Amino acid sequence: MSYQFRDLEYLYIHWPFCPYKCHFCDFVAMASHEQFMKDYHTALCREITYSMKDITTKPLKTIYMGGGTPSTYPPELLLDMFGTLKKNYIFNEQTEVTIEVNPGTANKALLKAWHSAGINRLSIGVQSLKDQILKSLNRHQTAKDVYALLTDASEYFENLSVDFILGLPGVSDDEWKLMIREAMKWPIKHISVYFLMVHENTPLYFKVKTKKLNLPPDDATVDLYNWTVDTLAQHGFERYELSNFAQKGFESRHNQVYWDRKPYRGYGLGACSFNGNIRFQNSKNLGNYLEKVSQDISPVDMSEELTSKQINIEKIMLGLRCQNGMNVTHYVQELQDKEKIKFFKELDYLSQANLIDYADDIVRLTPKGFALENEVAVRLFPD
Ligand code: SF4
Repeated sequence: MSYQFRDLEYLYIHWPFCPYKCHFCDFVAMASHEQFMKDYHTALCREITYSMKDITTKPLKTIYMGGGTPSTYPPELLLDMFGTLKKNYIFNEQTEVTIEVNPGTANKALLKAWHSAGINRLSIGVQSLKDQILKSLNRHQTAKDVYALLTDASEYFENLSVDFILGLPGVSDDEWKLMIREAMKWPIKHISVYFLMVHENTPLYFKVKTKKLNLPPDDATVDLYNWTVDTLAQHGFERYELSNFAQKGFESRHNQVYWDRKPYRGYGLGACSFNGNIRFQNSKNLGNYLEKVSQDISPVDMSEELTSKQINIEKIMLGLRCQNGMNVTHYVQELQDKEKIKFFKELDYLSQANLIDYADDIVRLTPKGFALENEVAVRLFPD
């Protein structure tokens, strides 16, 4: 497999350490591993440097630091990692540079250090403002931490985003509405609202399975989602993707890369990359990752070249999630005649069911279709 990139413009950097492990989380993230931070940092810098033999690059458009909890990256090490990036890539104040932050893990000195390193966007994991719910999910943060962070962060950053999780057990409709109305008073430009996913083998999964926790019914969650879409729009936050809302000009440029299927290079534990043909992923095992990188051996342990069917499925799934929709001529040009006939038949059916709008060569989900996004996408998949 060739992991080469030409004219690379987008980077993802993974920091897997967290101060705790939330019960709903299935990310590549680990608590109580602080003793490995320094070695991990060294490996990350080595992986960046070593990868350049396979990469030609243009000035970067986005860098995204995700996790884990990248706000726990010790600042002197983080500045050093940015030094490594600067030796290998070109980026400037036009580059969107995001760091994910958990309330309770940042202070003014840290915010100042990030700002001076060139970070210009914070993605803050609020999830909920109900302290006891977060505590029950082992997320050690409080609403007070959120307010303190927003106050401090707005001194240094204009481009602030917050994440909420919709459908957490124990949050009533009224409590959710109160939280969203509250968020509309904050100095933020972007908000993500993710549906709670119950991932297998997480503590949340077992609590739900053994009925220690009850999830709200799907219908109620969809109603609340629709209420949220309307409320955010009234406050100038337009939905530009199923879970993402922004004031004009503050849409996440990095996430758009994934939805547009553009190439990006990921560094770090379990980090995924896509070079336009091949998707590949680094080892998720910390010991394995550190050992391989220290010997300049590729830490990639999964890669696949997508078939044309997989590519078409991705185009449908990702295109429909976005408010810009999916370009039909572009999509059908490589389909066989039989596949085209089936696709247009499904478009007719979905239009009549008021699940999609099909006009000017673009297919977009209707409000009803957004709530049933998966079902709509599956109908359009090639056989
Ligand atoms: S802080 Fe984020 S990455 Fe870490 S355990 Fe919680 S949800 Fe997972």
